[in-house]
Amino acid sequence: MTTTSSDASAPTARRLLIVGPPGAGKGTQAVRVAEELSIPAISTGDIFRANVSGQTELGVLAKSYMDKGEYVPDSITNDMVRSRLAEADARDGFLLDGYPRTLDQVEALDGMLAELGTELDMVLLLVVEQEEVVGRLVARGAEQGRSDDTEETIRRRLEVYAEQTAPLIDVYEQRGLVRRVDGMASIDEVTAALREALGSR
Ligand code: AMP
Repeated sequence: MTTTSSDASAPTARRLLIVGPPGAGKGTQAVRVAEELSIPAISTGDIFRANVSGQTELGVLAKSYMDKGEYVPDSITNDMVRSRLAEADARDGFLLDGYPRTLDQVEALDGMLAELGTELDMVLLLVVEQEEVVGRLVARGAEQGRSDDTEETIRRRLEVYAEQTAPLIDVYEQRGLVRRVDGMASIDEVTAALREALGSR
């Protein structure tokens, strides 16, 4: 039998987004999936937090929005992602976690990918129940000392997600890119379901 080096199976999707409300487990799953695919997990929240810790100009600015549960302005966020996607390790794939989060950011990302001569392969959507998510975030705030994981900020972040980010799902749905995964299962089960979704392309 003749086989190619990539074997007979369909190529795995490698230009990916992971989407879901705050507390859905995006960060945890993004790191696992990205490692399996040998692509970088690019989390805008992590990049902002690194800048906050490093007390950079960007960090000082970002913190003022993050602590209120609001989004950092698109212009700042888009520039940051554009330079991150231009790095060599993102050339053959990436998993974006927490970006895009607004319709403007969707358009900006489309433009960046067009410039790079590529496009998204798949959008992984973690589906969770809101009350469960609040409980998880309150627990995370206590464990990790994240200043935006207080109950009041969490409620605001969920509102902002519903207003500004949930509409993105329809856009990607229309493009036929969305794969829904039950985010209420155990961490390992969710990873397995994501793996299966990735293979379903
Ligand atoms: P996350 O870790 O993804 O929950 O992000 C934490 C916070 O960082 C968010 O509540 C926002 O204030 C900010 N942030 C992260 N990603 C974005 C984005 N794509 N657009 C605007 N703000 C963002």
